[in-house]
Amino acid sequence: MFGLIGHLTNLSHAQRVARDLGYDEYASHDLEFWCMAPPQAVDEITITSVTGQVIHGQYVESCFLPEMLAQGRFKTAMRKILNAMALVQKRGIDITALGGFSSIIFENFSLDKLLNVRDITLDIQRFTTGNTHTAYILCQQVEQGAVRYGIDPAKATVAVVGATGDIGSAVCRWLTDRAGIHELLLVARDAERLDRLQQELGTGRILPVEEALPKADIVVWVASMNQGMAIDPAGLRTPCLLIDGGYPKNMAGTLQRPGIHILDGGMVEHSLDIDWQIMSFLNVPNPARQFFACFAESMLLEFEGLHFNFSWGRNHITVEKMAQIGSLSKKHGFRPLLEPSQRSGEL
Ligand code: NDP
Repeated sequence: MFGLIGHLTNLSHAQRVARDLGYDEYASHDLEFWCMAPPQAVDEITITSVTGQVIHGQYVESCFLPEMLAQGRFKTAMRKILNAMALVQKRGIDITALGGFSSIIFENFSLDKLLNVRDITLDIQRFTTGNTHTAYILCQQVEQGAVRYGIDPAKATVAVVGATGDIGSAVCRWLTDRAGIHELLLVARDAERLDRLQQELGTGRILPVEEALPKADIVVWVASMNQGMAIDPAGLRTPCLLIDGGYPKNMAGTLQRPGIHILDGGMVEHSLDIDWQIMSFLNVPNPARQFFACFAESMLLEFEGLHFNFSWGRNHITVEKMAQIGSLSKKHGFRPLLEPSQRSGEL
């Protein structure tokens, strides 16, 4: 059995989903209530691989919301993730993906030092961040998306926003080793971490986001921002491929300009319909098949009987592990999402 720990993108989204799922008491309350709310197992999932293998899983809503971080309610955020992890362990789930901010909170607040949750000692072997598969899928979106949208990868400048993060650094490693791009631009805030990454890669130009965007043919967004940033489309190259892997989205709103193509980054499409409800609340065109690559990682590990933390810690993802999870992804019928996002607003 696999598990998915997820959260919604903001309070009004959470209230809407709670109403649709029949949790009326959650739907009518404000952030204070969500801060107190325990995690809930809200969906039973069945997925069939293209190999014919069938597996079952559960989705657990942690009731964490990004506003909790924006308001400095760090202890609440930590409690949300630990309680959700304790719930999946209590339910006997073998391997669980920590979606969106769950793994970021685990790392940033050193939750590995707080593994005793009431009567349960968390076994971190049963959890994976899902970031190896997410990074692999983002790189496929760069390589295959470039071809699809008329950009020659060998001549392309690629900016990675959030380059020093767990996913961003893995994307940079792959783009450097395997993708044969023209130039890599590294964007984040902490200068020391950027220098270390540049040294490790032996390449890459460090630039602030406002200087990197006008120089980039392709932008991979993987910054841990709790709300999206407004972009001026007039300052972008054409064509330009924007791959937004943030959750919540790193870019605010839609971009109306010919030649600007937006992909929902780190998203996969499965070859067969999945029996579940949860994705229908997340504004994707085909919720029976399209979802987050990090969730797909726990499914892949379950299909293969690999019940251990395949992706764990920060900045340890290698191109070899990305290739390994990538071949399992293809074997079981997943592909990177390449259709323009509904936010593209292409003319
Ligand atoms: P990390 O915390 O490891 O890294 C975040 C990166 O973003 C760092 O480089 C950080 O560097 C940078 N950053 C944060 N704020 C800003 C900012 N305002 N401007 C520029 N850079 C910024 O996060 P992960 O790699 O684990 O996750 C990244 C994103 O991917 C998150 O939004 C997450 O929710 C999403 N995600 C998507 C998944 C999917 O399946 N599609 C799966 C898992 C995560 P610095 O602090 O120095 O700026």
